[in-house]
Amino acid sequence: MDDAAHRGPDSPALPGPQVRSRRLLARLRDVMAGSGPAQDRLNRIVVLIAAEMETEVCSCYVARPGELLELYATVGLNEAAVHLTRLRFGEGLVGEIGATARPLALDNVRSHPSFAYRPETGEDPYQSMLGVPVLRGGRVRGVLAIQSLARRHYDDEEVETLQTVAMVVAELFAAGDVAAGSSFQPDTTDSVMPARLVGVCFSGGLAIGRAVAHRVHLTVRQMVADDPARELERFRAAIVAMQGTLDRMLSHGALADVTETRDILQAYQMFARDRGWLGRIGEAIDSGLTAEAAVQRVQADMAARMAHLTDPYLRERLSDFQDLANRLLLHLSGRESLTELATLPEDTVLVARTIGPAELLDYDRSRLRGLVLEDGGATSHVAIVARALDIPMVGRCRGILDVAESMDPIVVDADGGQVLVRPSDDVRDTFQEAARNRARQRQRHAADARQPSVSQDGVQVSLQMNAGLLLDMPHLHETGADGIGLYRTEIPFMVRSQFPDVAAQTELYRRVVEQADGKPVTFRTLDAGGDKPLPYLRNTETANPALGWRALRIGLDRPAILRAQLRALLRAADGQPLRVMFPMVASVDEFVTARRLLDREIERLAEKRLTQPAGLQVGAMIEVPSLVWQLSALLPEVDFVAVGSNDLAQYVFAADRGDPRMGLRYDVLSPPFLTMLASIARQSEDAGVPVSLCGEMAGRPLEAMALVGIGYRTLSMTASSVGAIRGMIRSLRVDSLADYMGRLMATTDGSIRGKLRSFAKDHGIDL
Ligand code: PEP
Ligand code: MG
Repeated sequence: MDDAAHRGPDSPALPGPQVRSRRLLARLRDVMAGSGPAQDRLNRIVVLIAAEMETEVCSCYVARPGELLELYATVGLNEAAVHLTRLRFGEGLVGEIGATARPLALDNVRSHPSFAYRPETGEDPYQSMLGVPVLRGGRVRGVLAIQSLARRHYDDEEVETLQTVAMVVAELFAAGDVAAGSSFQPDTTDSVMPARLVGVCFSGGLAIGRAVAHRVHLTVRQMVADDPARELERFRAAIVAMQGTLDRMLSHGALADVTETRDILQAYQMFARDRGWLGRIGEAIDSGLTAEAAVQRVQADMAARMAHLTDPYLRERLSDFQDLANRLLLHLSGRESLTELATLPEDTVLVARTIGPAELLDYDRSRLRGLVLEDGGATSHVAIVARALDIPMVGRCRGILDVAESMDPIVVDADGGQVLVRPSDDVRDTFQEAARNRARQRQRHAADARQPSVSQDGVQVSLQMNAGLLLDMPHLHETGADGIGLYRTEIPFMVRSQFPDVAAQTELYRRVVEQADGKPVTFRTLDAGGDKPLPYLRNTETANPALGWRALRIGLDRPAILRAQLRALLRAADGQPLRVMFPMVASVDEFVTARRLLDREIERLAEKRLTQPAGLQVGAMIEVPSLVWQLSALLPEVDFVAVGSNDLAQYVFAADRGDPRMGLRYDVLSPPFLTMLASIARQSEDAGVPVSLCGEMAGRPLEAMALVGIGYRTLSMTASSVGAIRGMIRSLRVDSLADYMGRLMATTDGSIRGKLRSFAKDHGIDL
């Protein structure tokens, strides 16, 4: 069809490169759709590309197991080198393109530091080169390269054209007909064997189900457009429809009134209007792709860029675009949301490179058992949502997309940071039994939620809950926890693109107080930095973030930030009791200075004739070891203290809390750490200052048992642990445990875990 026929009366004339791109794509389509072995088709494709791009050489390299790129087809280089020349990723120019997943255009190949000459190819006379990665599913599947005898400058249009062609070629690698008897596909002999992959736990729990590749339903069938003008129309209509759905999610969706979710969706709306992103898709359509293929093309570029990004903020933003691209593909296929895909199994375990929070919220929660991502960070939006929805999630699980086939049985042992694909019957049975036990235990705990958490010998232990999202709040009443012992206020800050103002913060804290319905809430002031970076807070970069400018240090250096938060908290309390706690206090001075800022805000409240909180209690977290040696000076200044055992252990053992290799190395259940904790509890009690512990330890039955044994009477933990800890306490005799702990702590063992476990077993303690 004539290109002019697609143009409306006002459209500018199509530039030459687009005509070339469309013509090339149309011919490619004919070859791809034709019959014959895949090798023959690839041979014809390289000839076609060389002719259309007016160059002497075109070669296609295919990624092979072992991080190799093998020459699969060529015109211009020695035929004999085909299937013989192999380059490692990173080796030579082709290897460099494979390793960086970026195009490379060179007038003079010899001037490039990665140039490596392979004599068997006969490529020495060629001066210039343009190579692009062949990308699929965010991975480099091969490299497509053209070379010319004369020095030649490859312009951006040519780079674009070859990238578009590479995308179509990628389909050849993946098409089912190619798989049969072809060596294009990676070795699949492992695809029936059980596999165990390790990752990082982003949301605890155990899930057993079947793997469903997120996006599996969004296969693009037609790559090359019959009618580009119509594709542009479809694209525009899909954009309007997608923006409409996002608007509706914001105004009516089930989670629309949840402030953090609203923030996330608002960020989405902004991305959905991003002109750069939309413009690139438009250009890809102009080059001759269908609307779906164009979206996928831009998506593939982004996925490849993501693989090389180390900045967590940029990675998260790019993954938001990936989420939107999927959404756009859905709209192009005439659907609105993934929830319409009724074919999801009842026990879906989603497997993806990355997934956006809005996409996750799209899935039918009742069918979703777990989530496994190749990528992801513990602070990513989706991890926050997964935790709030109590979906077990393992992230940074490298290789999962290659290993798990659709509908494969899969076990997500998030607590153990592992994923088992196609487990043997024995393994599966074991996990199934564990899951049944868990379910039974949960039922029992739910039924016990109104029972007092009092030990067999009458010791009362107050169980509180940690929270950080409004989504967490309903658990306060379901679990029967006595209050929120730690409200991590930084989470709403983390999902935004700028600091929330006083009004937005007041509104959020007011809703927290409202939903707590009279139960006490301990608001911890902003604990940003370290493992909780705020994208918009500059100058936090440091070689050692855990020891850097974070938490209260930021609040004291930038008092405007801390004062705004304190003001919002005071306003939200609106005459009710208020508990405020400062994180990462390292010296008594720091606490006193922070408290003065709070006092100033209280004076301000009086000047404005606003209601004062009915009772104000101000506390410090004990999570920096230096404070443990200042307790005699600190305790008279505070109304309460809370031990942050996550950070305290990190600093005591000098072991990064986020590094899985450190997880097993040092045990919090060891005499030195427990001695320190016992001393904090004793000194606080002597001073008449209430003390609690709100690190992860408090939510693990064996650790919680030890804490009760050394004197802790208030523990704060994730909602899902409250029932188990209550059960443990109700089965315990504290007097005999305390005696035993005293003896164990005098030992020099690196861990007393085993002995404590035996004690629990011998004494019928419900762990
Ligand atoms: C801790 O450090 O133990 C704690 C409770 O705070 P966070 O985990 O938020 O640093
Ligand atoms: Mg901490």
